[in-house]
Amino acid sequence: MHIYLIADAASMQLTERLVVYLKPFFAPEVQFHIRPYEGESKSFWTWDALFAVGQQEKSSSLLPIGEHYFIFLVDGANEYNWFGAANPDASTIAFLQTSNWEDLGYKDTLYPIAYHLMALVTAMKFYGNDLTEDIFHEVSRGCMFDFTEFKEEVRYKLQAAQICPDCLSKMALQASDRLGAMDYIQRLFSLLRSVKEQLFSIDLHQYFGKLDYQLEIQEDTSLVLMVDNRSIELPISNGREKALFILLLRHEQGLSYKDFEKDMILREYLTIYFTYFVQQGSYTMLLNQAKEQIKARIFRKHLEPLVSRIRKKLQGCLVAYPEVLNALSIQYKEGALVVPMKRVKVVNRLGRSGLAS
Ligand SMILES: [Zn+2]
Repeated sequence: MHIYLIADAASMQLTERLVVYLKPFFAPEVQFHIRPYEGESKSFWTWDALFAVGQQEKSSSLLPIGEHYFIFLVDGANEYNWFGAANPDASTIAFLQTSNWEDLGYKDTLYPIAYHLMALVTAMKFYGNDLTEDIFHEVSRGCMFDFTEFKEEVRYKLQAAQICPDCLSKMALQASDRLGAMDYIQRLFSLLRSVKEQLFSIDLHQYFGKLDYQLEIQEDTSLVLMVDNRSIELPISNGREKALFILLLRHEQGLSYKDFEKDMILREYLTIYFTYFVQQGSYTMLLNQAKEQIKARIFRKHLEPLVSRIRKKLQGCLVAYPEVLNALSIQYKEGALVVPMKRVKVVNRLGRSGLAS
């Protein structure tokens, strides 16, 4: 399936952003192509003139077998003042207005435009030559096919991120390739959810203020998070898990898996582990064993499950504090494992019992 976005000069930058945003949702099944519109720019268009642009592009293209849709992205206003429309006489041609979306008060007009672009494509894909106004709901119900004559209502369909059961039933009836249609709709739903998330995600801090938090590594190695006046003990297990987490807390810039092969880092990790969590055996034995594993290239395999277990446990206990979770969770940045938390928020009481920090 191919979508040709014919962009006038004023819409070109937006169109490029649209493709960057949309591609990951639909690739490789759907391919987007940008075509610059080289005709005369107008501030006001009739629908016939708008559809003629798509038709011209279609007629002049040598198209391989498959579905092809042509949408003119245009800055100017149109005679019925619609956001966009598909040509009922040629169901693969449409236009979409790219201006005036700011008036609706969204933080980035990319998202509502991406939504409406794919709504047009979806209408053309599934309703083809039956493309008449009555595929749209006059009374809004939170469906992608709400007509939304009142622009204020657009917000509700964007928030719903849904296609209603009536429309889905109709689309299923129209679909000749059942698997292909399901795949497309599934991808479309991911896009709708993303648009919703981008536009309407709620930051509770706006309402409740910023959370003050601090992490204490206590003398008995407990990891205690103080959030406002509550203390939460992080459920990271004693042993290698906790040794790894403490080590990462001590290296603000992060450590790559390769760094663990360096003598200094390896010793630091094993020293924490041995000092606090090992009851018997010798440090030298532990060190030699790790060196053997490094030599056999299996040391990383021992570390990886620790990282994912720590992540999972933190996710479980910090779900109410996404900001804190984000700061404490082990992230993989530019090849290094990093705990992004600001170190001024970490109080290390371990140092007192002999472990320098
Ligand atoms: Zn519907």
